Amino acid sequence: MAVDRKPPASPIKFDIADALSQRPTTTQTGLGTADDVRSPTGGILANEDNVVFSTVKDLVSWARSRSPWPLGYGLACCAIEMFSAAASTHDLARFGAEVFRPSPRQADVMIVAGTVTHKMAPRLRRLYEQMPEPKWVIAMGNCASSGGEFWDSYATLQGVDTVVPVDVYVPGCPPRPEALTEGILRLREKIAKGG
Ligand code: SF4
Repeated sequence: MAVDRKPPASPIKFDIADALSQRPTTTQTGLGTADDVRSPTGGILANEDNVVFSTVKDLVSWARSRSPWPLGYGLACCAIEMFSAAASTHDLARFGAEVFRPSPRQADVMIVAGTVTHKMAPRLRRLYEQMPEPKWVIAMGNCASSGGEFWDSYATLQGVDTVVPVDVYVPGCPPRPEALTEGILRLREKIAKGG
């Protein structure tokens, strides 16, 4: 009876120097490239050691910027676009911002999505004060930013920045989910810079 006899496979030669030279290049800041690029700190090879230098403050700001948790707080038609931004089509989870919290004590981003009336303004301010520090505010849509089509109305606040500090304004009536996503990306940049 004929039997196929394959020659035994030769053992893989693993040399740490070969592994380092053959690893894929990366464009991530601080991780170096396949070239012999030295890190700003003298004497340390960034491409061989995979060492990233930073400060604790910058590291914390970077981590915060990657996980903004919005307060689930819709006031008018803009809120529908906010819901859509969190749904699967637009998927805010790509940017770590899909965890809408029902309690202000668990949120760090207030998205003011809709028309703010004078009657609602004190409640909005109270919710803002119940959010822990650090916290940020996005004014979504023309109504929240400036009163919008209710400009100069007896019942409508002429911009939510009259009661809470606003970090990012998203224009539109209503802004599309992509516009809110862009606003969140701008906020992430601001948070990463320690703002
Ligand atoms: S900006 Fe337009 S869509 Fe948004 S709450 Fe005001 S009227 Fe509605």
